[in-house]
Parts: sequence; C-alpha cells; structure tokens
Amino acid sequence: MKQLIYLDNAATTKTRPEVVEAMLPYFTEYYGNPSSVYDFSTESKKAVNHARETIARSLGAKTNEIYFTAGGSEADNWALVATAEAYGNKGKHIITTKIEHHAILHTCQYLEKRGYEVTYLDVDENGVVKLDELKKSIRPDTILISVMFANNEIGTIEPIKEIGAIAREHGILFHTDAVQAFAHVPIDVDAYNIDMLSSSGHKLNGPKGIGFLYIRTGVKIRSFIHGGAQERKRRAGTENVPGIVGYGRAVELAMANMEERAARETKLRDYLMKRVMDEVPFTRINGSRTSRLPNNVNFAFQFIEGESLLIKLDMAGICGSSGSACTSGSLDPSHVLLAIGLPHEIAHGSLRLTLSEENTQEEMDYVAEQIKDIVGYLRSMSPLYEDYMKHNGGGKK
Ligand SMILES: *Cc1c(COP(=O)(O)O)cnc(C)c1O
Repeated sequence: MKQLIYLDNAATTKTRPEVVEAMLPYFTEYYGNPSSVYDFSTESKKAVNHARETIARSLGAKTNEIYFTAGGSEADNWALVATAEAYGNKGKHIITTKIEHHAILHTCQYLEKRGYEVTYLDVDENGVVKLDELKKSIRPDTILISVMFANNEIGTIEPIKEIGAIAREHGILFHTDAVQAFAHVPIDVDAYNIDMLSSSGHKLNGPKGIGFLYIRTGVKIRSFIHGGAQERKRRAGTENVPGIVGYGRAVELAMANMEERAARETKLRDYLMKRVMDEVPFTRINGSRTSRLPNNVNFAFQFIEGESLLIKLDMAGICGSSGSACTSGSLDPSHVLLAIGLPHEIAHGSLRLTLSEENTQEEMDYVAEQIKDIVGYLRSMSPLYEDYMKHNGGGKK
C-alpha cells in the first residue's frame, strides 16, 4: 500500500477502534428507541445518559446542560439563531470575530439579513482577539458574544477566560465554538463564564455527524429542530444512539491522556516547525507561537501557490490543507489569513498541517524533506522568485 502520512486532523480525525467497538452493539443488539417505554429500550437510554454524563463532567457542566446535535455546524447555528430569537426583544446586536468558522460567519450573515447587527472583531497579527476592541464594541442592545475557543486554521487559542469575564460583567451571553479545542485543551465552563459551547465528535477521534451544544441552566433558548420531545424538548429527532455512545467513549479516551497527548504532539510539531524554518528560506509561521493548539502548524511560503504544494505533497503521500477556500472553488485566500494581515500573495502560499498522537518523528523528517524539495522546485519555476533573487542578490532573508 502507498504510504499515507495524515496531517489534516483539523479537518477530521480517525475514529478510534475502541470507539467503533463501543458503538457496534447499538446498531444490531440494543437498537431500541430511547423514548420507548418497554424494558428493551432501557439499554439505549442508559447508554445515552452515560455519554451525556461523561461529556458534562469533562467540562465542569451539569448533565442536563448537554444537548446532542448532528455536529459542530448545527450546534453553532443553533446557538446563534435561537439566542437571537429568544433575546431579540432585548436587543439585536451580536459580537463575533473575523476569524470564525463559516458555521458562525454564515449564520451571522443570515441573521444580518433578518434585522440583526453583527460586529466582526479584528484580531492581531497572531490571530488573538483584541480585548479593548471587544469592550468598545459592547452596546446596550448587545445580546451575544461568540468567539471561537481555538482557530481551526492557524491554531491560535483565544483569551476565553478574559472574554467570558467581560461578557459576564456586562450581562451578555457568551458562546464559544470549541470544536477544535474541546478534549484537546482543558475547558471549564464555570471558570471561563461560558454560557454556550459547541463541539463535534469527529474532531476528537469520535464519529462524524454527532456534536453537542452546552447550554447553561437559565439561558433562554428556543428549540432549533422541531418535532418530538427529545433532548428536553429542545432538539427533536430520535437520538443518534451509536453516535452518542461513540462520542462519549471518544471523550473518555481523549480526556484520559490529554496532557501526554498534547506534550507528544507539541514536541513533534515543534520539531517539524524547526526543521522547516531552518531549512526553507522565506518562510513564516502563521498564528500565535505561545497560545496555540498543540497539534497545529501553519506555514506561509513566499513565492509559491499553496495549492501546487498540496498536490505535490499528496503525490508524496502526505495529507495537508492549504487553509484557504481555494479548494471549494473560490480563489480568495482564507479570511483568517487576511484577518491576521497577510498580503494576498503570501496567504496563497500557506500550508496547514495538523498532527495526531499517532505521528512519528520519522514521518516529520520525511515531511520536512518533501516540503524543502517541493518548495524549492516550485520556486525554481516562479517568475516572482526569479525576479526577487535577481534584485536582492539571492541572500537568505
Ligand atoms: C469542523 C469545525 C466546525 C464544524 O463541525 P462539523 O461537525 O463538521 O459540522 C465548526 N467549527 C470549527 C472551528 C470547526 O473546526
């Protein structure tokens, strides 16, 4: 088999075999509908409750504050739309950032068309939200602040505790998209004053198509999917029992070794980062050096197209991401890279690699060598690079 080095764990992760194993009996053996009254459905009901307890505990939340959804996008949509509806009579102003996931940004645009006003906060050159700007943008009609816990492209972890404190001080609800952060870094909803939090199973070695929204007791929130009385009448639809069971198991496993995993990923990531920075000139690191997800590195290589680099890496058996919207048919560079102030031509030369605990140092060596060769090759064909070298004597920057 062709070798595969998977470095796109921010896009999705491998479902752990232990997770699949935990799920299987809930397809063929305990397939009862948790809402049914007979004894046979007790096992499904118990399994859903157990997963809910596991997840609540890992966040310092109460069991009845966890509402399962069909993924991170649904949780984000729900948090924003239902808060807007429930609190719309108090005000119609929402604050978010320019670097959110599209599940947040496109929902904000949807709300703008329906009479809500949204402030999109700037971030600094590391992708960190500017707290003074946040304070200045708060108005008497502000009902919600939504800031992601960690960015999916550049890995920057936001000052969530400070943002939570500001929101609380002004009596404004605080939602965080923690899809990239949950079970990767410690989170406590009380310590951080988080009122709502979104998560997704497939970003933490769980199954795809399952997520949850944490909703603090007392937050008025409308149901988003209408129908039956599931999820305390707030999210209708027969529970995805196998998905929920797998999610719970994935969280259990991820929480059990979070520190060692983060340490291992950080060490490998830093090793790769150092090799590439030492060996490939005209390269920068996007995102914060200090407040960063353990497994994320995002490079910008001057004078090349990230898409060409990705294709060549793919031919070498390496899965990465350009961190731009190019792949979805648009030629615009990533909104995140533009928000941290990268000029278009540099944003186009970006590469995101996101590790898992399964990666090895040998793989990092191979990846660093491939990057060096491919970037060198692409530059050798770049008129921009040639021009630059002619005028600058070819000295290493
Ligand atoms: C992946 C991701 C989502 C969407 O989650 P899905 O479960 O794929 O819908 C939302 N926000 C962030 C930050 C993500 O990385």
